[in-house]
Amino acid sequence: MSQEIKGYVPLTRTEFSTLTSQLSRLLSTEHSPVIIPAEAILGIEAVAAGISAPGRTFINVVTGPYGSLFGQWLERGGARVVEVKVPFDEVVAVEQVAAVIERVKPDALSFVQAEVVTGGSNPAKEILRIARSHNLITVTDSVSAVGGEELLVDEWGVDFAAVGAQKALGGPNGVSAVSISPRGWQFLETNKVAPRNSILSLLDLKQPADGTEPVRVPPNIPALEARALIEALAAVEQEGLDQVISRHRAAAASAHAGIKVLGLEPWQKDSGHFSTLTTTVRIGGDQRLRIAQPVGIVAPGDGELNGRLLRINHFGVNASLPGVEKAITTLAELLEQDAASALQAVRAAWGNAHA
Ligand SMILES: *Cc1c(COP(=O)(O)O)cnc(C)c1O
Repeated sequence: MSQEIKGYVPLTRTEFSTLTSQLSRLLSTEHSPVIIPAEAILGIEAVAAGISAPGRTFINVVTGPYGSLFGQWLERGGARVVEVKVPFDEVVAVEQVAAVIERVKPDALSFVQAEVVTGGSNPAKEILRIARSHNLITVTDSVSAVGGEELLVDEWGVDFAAVGAQKALGGPNGVSAVSISPRGWQFLETNKVAPRNSILSLLDLKQPADGTEPVRVPPNIPALEARALIEALAAVEQEGLDQVISRHRAAAASAHAGIKVLGLEPWQKDSGHFSTLTTTVRIGGDQRLRIAQPVGIVAPGDGELNGRLLRINHFGVNASLPGVEKAITTLAELLEQDAASALQAVRAAWGNAHA
């Protein structure tokens, strides 16, 4: 029997359109998001490169490491960047953002919607409402929010929203997306220093206006990754985005219930702003919680947070009751405690949150 040799088939226009439509539905936007031919961080850097320019002023909210990086990329482009930074065990207060907007009178505002690294989730809807009332261009890094909480791009007026599928959506990380509003495109097009003929150029990826010409499939889109993303998003639609979000909420509620019974304290201070993707545990002086390597979905803190917090990564397929039970069992073992009552609390919280 001869073996058929399968060649690499580039992404077809039909597949490309399918993916674009899936992403529009995911983000509740009528505009076609730009598909980024690489991991999400490239889309985020491309946004910064595309919109930053001398003479433009940005407020960049920093509640974790990704926000710092975005600010550095904005500065590289020559913009004036006013950082609003909070300790990494807090989220930003809407009043603080409002006060800085009044004082600085910026052109644009950027923030990370939810932080897996710190386990905090910023009050996105309220921040965006204030930003829009001042007619600011808005940018969100929603990589760790999409699929874990609401993200209504058109209704909330997000001009640039960067997303990836590898966190809550259980998809690949080799292709990602940035949704861009008509105002956002204008902000890019009026920037004389926006990159062109560059991997960082969003303008290079702009499609012809609706209906005028057929869509162009950018030649550098990794087809296998894009197909995996199409499958992941189809699975999300089959489960229902609301259900996916509910599952992440339940995972966070049950993880918090479990750590409480174990006598542990959340790293994030405000229980109204816990991330639904990760639960972060304050280490304090407890040497038993200083792990060097991840144990299942229980992981040491990243960077400056190493030794200060532990992270339970209950996202994607791990946003499940067995996923959280296993993580709580791991923590109980580290503490040399019996897990039974904590697991009981986990199950009760799961039942309440995800009926
Ligand atoms: C994971 C993450 C990213 C980076 O995504 P990659 O696809 O790994 O590049 C960016 N921002 C936030 C908030 C994230 O959680």
